[in-house]
Amino acid sequence: MAIRKIREIGDPCLNKKCRDVENFDKKLHDLLDDMKDTMIKANGVGLAAPQVGILRKVVVIDLGEENGVLELINPVITHTEGSYTDVEGCLSVPGKAGEVERPTKATVKAFDRNGEEFEFTGEDLYARCICHECDHLDGKLYVDKVIRFIEPDYEEED
Ligand SMILES: [Zn+2]
Repeated sequence: MAIRKIREIGDPCLNKKCRDVENFDKKLHDLLDDMKDTMIKANGVGLAAPQVGILRKVVVIDLGEENGVLELINPVITHTEGSYTDVEGCLSVPGKAGEVERPTKATVKAFDRNGEEFEFTGEDLYARCICHECDHLDGKLYVDKVIRFIEPDYEEED
């Protein structure tokens, strides 16, 4: 396992559409493990493969101490409900945060690291996170959807 370099806004990897994962092999498992370590070290809630320079549909989301890390391979959002506006940031856009409107509930269909299909529904922060990370796989950043930027105040809480 290793910490990978997080690409920052302006890097062309962040604006490209990702391809499906076809092989659920050791290379994928290594990528997932590295992404998890990289996300945790950076105090992030989620990380998408293009953020570490890999143009494949792979996402990790930290669901908190009890639930561990959710791994989404080739995720497709199948259902969303409601909407709310809250502040979000991105590890690829350091030092910034902004208000973005997202669904309150999002259901995603994806594969796990062994190629088994499953469905996951996230609410509030996790719905936000699923949408934010799936946007990365389409080459989109939250800054294109932001309603207004705010001064980040969450950095001091670490
Ligand atoms: Zn992001």
